[in-house]
Amino acid sequence: MAKPQAIEKPVDVLIIGGGIYGCGVAQAAAASGYSVILVEKNSIASGTSRQSTKLIHGGLRYLAQGNLQLVHAALSERETLLNIAPDLVQRQWFYIPIYENARHSPWLIGSGLLLYWLLARGRSHFRRIPRRQWSTALPGLNYNGLRTVLAYQDAATDDTALTRAVAASAQSFGCGILQNHGLQRAEYTGRYDDKYWQVDFDSGASCRARILINASGPWMGETCQNILAHIPEMPHRLVQGSHLLLDRPCPAYIYTESSDGRVMFFRPWRRRMLVGTTETELAAMPQKPTPTQTEINAILDTHNHYFPDTRCTNVDILNTYCGVRVLPCGDSTAFAANRETVILADNEKRPAYIGIYGGKLTTYRREAEKVVHLISRSIPTKHRADTRRIMLPVTDVSLG
Ligand SMILES: Cc1cc2nc3c(=O)[nH]c(=O)nc-3n(C[C@H](O)[C@H](O)[C@H](O)COP(=O)(O)OP(=O)(O)OC[C@H]3O[C@@H](n4cnc5c(N)ncnc54)[C@H](O)[C@@H]3O)c2cc1C
Repeated sequence: MAKPQAIEKPVDVLIIGGGIYGCGVAQAAAASGYSVILVEKNSIASGTSRQSTKLIHGGLRYLAQGNLQLVHAALSERETLLNIAPDLVQRQWFYIPIYENARHSPWLIGSGLLLYWLLARGRSHFRRIPRRQWSTALPGLNYNGLRTVLAYQDAATDDTALTRAVAASAQSFGCGILQNHGLQRAEYTGRYDDKYWQVDFDSGASCRARILINASGPWMGETCQNILAHIPEMPHRLVQGSHLLLDRPCPAYIYTESSDGRVMFFRPWRRRMLVGTTETELAAMPQKPTPTQTEINAILDTHNHYFPDTRCTNVDILNTYCGVRVLPCGDSTAFAANRETVILADNEKRPAYIGIYGGKLTTYRREAEKVVHLISRSIPTKHRADTRRIMLPVTDVSLG
C-alpha cells in the first residue's frame, strides 16, 4: 500500500517518538478527546523503552539520595500499574545480600526498607531471610562473608510489551500511529489565532498540528534542531546503561552493588539471567548504542563476585541491551543525578510546543497526565480522561 503523502485534516496534537512517554501522552490525550497522531522513526518501543532494567519501582537508590517525593510518586504509580496492567506488571520479592565489607549496615538498609514500606502505604513488605533459607532462596550465591539477607517487594515488567500496550490503548481511542516516520522538519506557521505546525517526515508524508510534543528521548537534541521555531531546550547529557543476558538461570531478583558502589540488579529474563546496569557518559547519541568492553567486564566481574561457582566470560553472553538516559547537566555523577522528568513548554499558559526530558518508565502515566493538562490550556476539553482507570491488556494488535 502506498504511504500517505499528506494527512489532510489538521490534528490537535502531534507526538514525536513512540517510547513510553510518547505513547503515554498519546493515550492520555486521545482518551481525553483530542485528535492525535504519533510518529515513530522506527517501531514502537525501539529506543530506551526496550532497553531498561524492566522494573516498575520506587527506586531504593533514590531513597538514599533523599528524593522522597520521587520515590513516593513512583511507588504510587507502581500500584496503579499493578492494577491496570496485571498481565504486564507483577509484584516480586527482591533480595539484598549484605556482606561484612558492605558500605551500608543491615540496620541502615533495614531502616530504608521501613521508609520504603511507609512511602508505599504498607504495600512493600520486607523481611530478613533466615540463614537456613539462604541456599533455597539464593542458590549459588557467594555466602563468603555474607552477614545477612534482606528482602523487599517491588515490581517487574516487560518494558517493550508495556509500551506497546499503551500504544494499542492510544490507538483504541482513535490515535493514529505512524511507524517508520521520522520527523524531518517542523515549522510553526500561520497567522494570529490560526497558527499551526507544518511537519514533514522522512517518509515523504506531511501533516499539520496545533500542538507539537517532542518525546524523542535521547534523540531530543537532534529533533530540536529540526524544529524551526523558538522552543525551550534543557541542557542535558546522555548516559548509557548496559545489561548482559547471561546463559545462566537466575534464582531471584537480586539488588546488589558493583565494586564502585553502583546499583546492579540480577533479574530473571526469558529463563536466563539479566544483569545491569552501568553508567557511561556519551559525547553524542550513537546510531546504535552498544556496550563497551569496559562495561561488559564490569558486569561480568559483578556476576563473578556474587556467583563465583558459575563464573561467566564473554562466551556466556547471549545478548546485550544498551539504553541511553537523558539527565540534566550538572556537577553530580550520573549515578547521583536527578532522575525526575522535566517537561518544558514554550508558553506555560498556552503552549504550542512541549518537550519531555528524562524520567522513569514507572512514572510515564503521571507525567503524561501533566502534559495533557498543559495541552488543555491551549485546547480546552470537556472530559480529561483518568488513565488510572484504563486497563492495559497485552496486545498483539498491529500498531500503525
Ligand atoms: C539502562 C537503563 C535502565 C533503566 N531502567 C529503568 C527501570 O528499570 N525502571 C524505570 O522505571 N525506568 C528505567 N529507566 C528509565 C526509562 O527506561 C526511560 O525513562 C524511558 O524508557 C524513556 O522513554 P522515552 O519515551 O522518553 O524515550 P525512548 O524510549 O527512547 O523513546 C523515544 C522514541 O523517539 C523516537 N524518535 C527519536 N527521534 C525521532 C524522530 N525524529 N522522529 C520520530 N521518532 C523519533 C525513537 O526511535 C524512540 O523510539 C532506565 C533507563 C536506562 C537508560
